[in-house]
Amino acid sequence: MYLVRTPSLVKPLARDFVWSIPTSEQELYITFDDGPTPGVTDTALDILKKYEAKATFFCLGKNVVEHPALYQRILNEGHSIGNHSWDHPDGWKTSDISYLKNALRAGQHIQSGLFRPPYGRITLSQAKALRKKYQLIMWTVLSADFDPAVSPEKCLTNVLSNIDNGSIIVFHDSLKAKKNMLYALEESLKFFCEEGYTLRPITSP
Ligand SMILES: [Zn+2]
Repeated sequence: MYLVRTPSLVKPLARDFVWSIPTSEQELYITFDDGPTPGVTDTALDILKKYEAKATFFCLGKNVVEHPALYQRILNEGHSIGNHSWDHPDGWKTSDISYLKNALRAGQHIQSGLFRPPYGRITLSQAKALRKKYQLIMWTVLSADFDPAVSPEKCLTNVLSNIDNGSIIVFHDSLKAKKNMLYALEESLKFFCEEGYTLRPITSP
């Protein structure tokens, strides 16, 4: 189960997490999880370039090690990078020590002060430990591109009907999400540009 828009009630309960970027400007923060993935991340980068948009890629350490050139391309094109763990453990089902080891193993290959917990699931003690090294980045809006039951058009609507200034939007540069993501990314960027939004990377502290 997931909610497309994080209810505002949840947010104050987790002040240690970043759910949106405070701004009065027309700025949005697109993020990608689970890459880099050949055939997906590169196409997303082409689309971002076409609309002069910058984004943040929360990478899996194992994918960075497998696809170093693609990882380097993300950096070369001016996007931000975040740590999304080594291989996507579920924090609720993983001991604190193995969760931390998993994140720090990824951190050896991903130079970033940003961390996004896989599935958004992390215990308070895991979060407390990781906060010493990382800013914990959650999201405002899920496109739900990873859900095979959701159409590309619905992913687009999920994004467009839930954004505000400073929203953090989640897409996935994974094979599973590819079809939904590429459609919703391009169409939402088209809209954002027409409306005068700037697409910015989340900067590392
Ligand atoms: Zn993920």
